[in-house]
Amino acid sequence: MTIKELVKQNPTGIIAKAYALAEKAHADQKRKTGEPYLNHPLATAGTLNDWHLDEATIAAGLLHDTVEDTSVPLETVKKEFGEEIAFLVDGVTKLGRIKYRGAENKVENLRKMILAISEDLRVVLIKLADRLHNMRTLQALPPVKQKRVAMETDEIYAPLAYRLGMHDLSGELEDLAFPYLHPQEYRWLLATTKEQYQSRLAYLEKMKPQVKKLLEEHDLKPHDIEIRAKRYASLYKKLLRRDMDIGKIHDLVAMRVIMETIPECYAALGVIHEAWPPVPRRIKDYIAMPKPNGYRSLHTTVIGPGDKTIEFQIRTKEMHDENEFGVAAHWLYDQNRRGERISGKKMAEEITWVQQLKNWQERFFGKEKDPEELIRAMKIDFFRDRIFAVTPRGDVIDLPRGATPVDFAYHIHSIVGNSCAGAKVNGTLTPLDHPLRSGDVVEIIVQKGKKPSEDWLRFVKTDIARDHIKLALREKNAFAQTAKAPTHTELKITVETRVGLIKDISTAIARQHFTIMHFNTDHPKGGRFQFYHIEVSTTDKTKIEKLVVKLKKIKEVREISYKFA
Ligand code: MN
Repeated sequence: MTIKELVKQNPTGIIAKAYALAEKAHADQKRKTGEPYLNHPLATAGTLNDWHLDEATIAAGLLHDTVEDTSVPLETVKKEFGEEIAFLVDGVTKLGRIKYRGAENKVENLRKMILAISEDLRVVLIKLADRLHNMRTLQALPPVKQKRVAMETDEIYAPLAYRLGMHDLSGELEDLAFPYLHPQEYRWLLATTKEQYQSRLAYLEKMKPQVKKLLEEHDLKPHDIEIRAKRYASLYKKLLRRDMDIGKIHDLVAMRVIMETIPECYAALGVIHEAWPPVPRRIKDYIAMPKPNGYRSLHTTVIGPGDKTIEFQIRTKEMHDENEFGVAAHWLYDQNRRGERISGKKMAEEITWVQQLKNWQERFFGKEKDPEELIRAMKIDFFRDRIFAVTPRGDVIDLPRGATPVDFAYHIHSIVGNSCAGAKVNGTLTPLDHPLRSGDVVEIIVQKGKKPSEDWLRFVKTDIARDHIKLALREKNAFAQTAKAPTHTELKITVETRVGLIKDISTAIARQHFTIMHFNTDHPKGGRFQFYHIEVSTTDKTKIEKLVVKLKKIKEVREISYKFA
């Protein structure tokens, strides 16, 4: 059902209400393509509807550009549509402020930051639906912008969709970005493969009824048989691995056979192999051994009529759905493969994340569909303890909750940390102990020759910052100490005096082999106690402690304190 149909079906519902506001707010706006702006939120909401999302998400999809691009304040959305929809719209607006400009190796953190800022997976899903339509209409933008948006899509949003298990969407986003990122290769691919694509398509279309008939003759009733052309972006990646030889690509166009059960999948494979000889080493059982990203299917290539190859993908409906929009991709596997070292603590965090995504999907696609449970499952709380702040260049710094600009500075580089003199957060001068929030843009003001302050140890949250501060302070102190290291100890002893007490105390000191450098007494008027001030020739703490124990054994000694000088 389209959004317009949904509106007609329930003209007083929340979707109809959102539609009306979007229509009004975007009334005078046009897209760069020349069409009415409303088409964009309409397409976004339509995609969300195709993904079977809830009414609030579809309504938020309709409203997602009203706060940013028109004069409708968030307060109005809140008043008219309630907290939930306002929260979703606000989340998408915040994500819109993140711009990726190719900041080297921090893309992984940027993807995490998007999830952390979203707080709710539905925000990410609205953003993905929004991006899908923007990519489909990208030709209308000026070339510089095309390139930036395509790169962001290819490096941030397509992998994000993949991690959420939305393999089909991920592939489509990559495919839409491909012509803008690699225009020459795209043109070459189009010219080289066009004929082949067309003849392959025609051949498989002709084979389709034959395959159906063959299976039915063996009492196998396929749920569906689809013909799928390989996407250009993934074809190009594959060609790079196959010496750019199009003859080596067997799955340019494949036939997808969807069966009801797993035994039926294997039975279908047998029937197909009986009818046409399989190509050696082209049989892959991803049902018994799923791909690390969770992909499940049987693959085989056979020699069909006219000595032409046919690639088959055989799977159940459930696997089919999962492969399109299903099981969470294995984040850990990906990171390990790229050779990134992850610490034990980080590993635990990653596992929680992957686990939570899986739980989310199980609940979302599983049988149990309690709506409240579903919404709870959408909460992104796997980054509860992390924040993601950005440098003005767009590098994302991943920090623990409560981290400050000083932590941020030390995570850029110890030199930046040590010479940190101030910080601007989102363009405003901010105290160095101010806790940062996800999405903050942090600019560190450095001053040459500046040294860390001991005070920083009070508020920094990361070990990296703490260790570097201590190291820098030690260096500073070592320098100061060589100038005037302590040479002796000053003792202050409170006593109730008696004849011979001074002698007893001096003897105890002498027994520890200390020289008394100075000794004076003072007796406050009318007081019961006297104070002895004694300087001894040591700065050894253990020896002094020993002396203190000995002195305390003298009955008239009431209290002893000491300091090095
Ligand atoms: Mn939009």
